[in-house]
Amino acid sequence: MKPFTYVVPRSLQEASEAGKQPDTVLKGAGVDLIDRMKERLQTPTHVVNLLPLKDALAGVAVEANGELRIGALTTLTQLEQHTALAGRAFEGLRLATGMTATPQVRNRATVAGNILQFTRCWYVRSEAHRCLHGGRGPTCLAMTGENRFHAVLGWQDCVRVHPSNLAPPLLAMGAEYTTTLGDKVTRRKFADLFPAEPRAQNPEHTLLPGEVVTAIHVPPQPAGARSFYCESREKLSFDWATTACAVRLVMDGDTITAADLVLGAVAPVPLPRPNAAKLLVGQKASEQLFQKVADAAFAGANPLAHNAYKLTVGKAIVRDALSHATRQS
Ligand SMILES: Cc1cc2nc3c(=O)[nH]c(=O)nc-3n(C[C@H](O)[C@H](O)[C@H](O)COP(=O)(O)OP(=O)(O)OC[C@H]3O[C@@H](n4cnc5c(N)ncnc54)[C@H](O)[C@@H]3O)c2cc1C
Repeated sequence: MKPFTYVVPRSLQEASEAGKQPDTVLKGAGVDLIDRMKERLQTPTHVVNLLPLKDALAGVAVEANGELRIGALTTLTQLEQHTALAGRAFEGLRLATGMTATPQVRNRATVAGNILQFTRCWYVRSEAHRCLHGGRGPTCLAMTGENRFHAVLGWQDCVRVHPSNLAPPLLAMGAEYTTTLGDKVTRRKFADLFPAEPRAQNPEHTLLPGEVVTAIHVPPQPAGARSFYCESREKLSFDWATTACAVRLVMDGDTITAADLVLGAVAPVPLPRPNAAKLLVGQKASEQLFQKVADAAFAGANPLAHNAYKLTVGKAIVRDALSHATRQS
């Protein structure tokens, strides 16, 4: 690992100011970042450790207006086990969190770090390869190489996929996030965290240097709200998803009155599928409806040489998520 200075900030502003300096990275628990530094894929001169700010930036709370506030440095275990996530409205977020990695990783890894983790594309994460997204080569090597885990939707010149389990349910639930940059506090829609044009030269997220995510906010859910999350993977334990689907529905009796559907692990960003979700509104649950929605969720897919299976498996995952979300009890 290349030597670096380790910055231990005493305040959020100090962390942000330090993070603005050239060649500087912010660190949550370091599960992803330190891995990349050990591989010399990222060689910062300064590392700003955010963990000393845990008192202010960790924890889950239900605000007076019913909104759920998730501190950026909350661990995945704290989030999964929080009583506020106990009901059906938050089931999707709870499941996505509990399916992430291993108990050891979940005990350390932070919510913000999970959402902002770097893609798992084996070309960009390998020192031996020179790929376009890493800024070290002329082309996306996965496009013509070994691409069974890569994108089938929404890709342009780079077929990486967004690896976060938490991002799809948070998007489906209409979350927002707050950041601090110097002394400026900004709150934005969760979708703004990801590039609108996920091209190779764009990073995984839209944060500016030194911009610290401080909290995620999930709006209060109406009566009849439910959510669910399903994913496929190669291994049953501690593996990233090959396809994922988060749904959030509002039910009035057995009729669906509102719906959101977001796919994970199939595109360079977590991918909302509003045209598929729309098909659910005003309908009652049925296998035929879920098949139609699943087909619409993957409409326009453009699979690569080794990943057409993602269409078949991904559609089954959409059907499963809908079937669980609409179950009677
Ligand atoms: C064996 C294994 C299996 C895994 N399986 C899964 C899985 O199935 N699904 C899944 O989603 N993930 C999985 N992961 C990934 C893991 O969840 C992430 O690496 C972890 O959540 C990162 O959190 P962290 O706090 O360690 O972030 P760090 O590694 O510290 O940071 C990650 C990135 O986020 C940035 N960052 C962190 N916090 C902030 C902040 N507050 N503001 C601004 N920028 C910030 C950092 O600069 C860095 O770029 C797995 C990891 C391992 C080791």
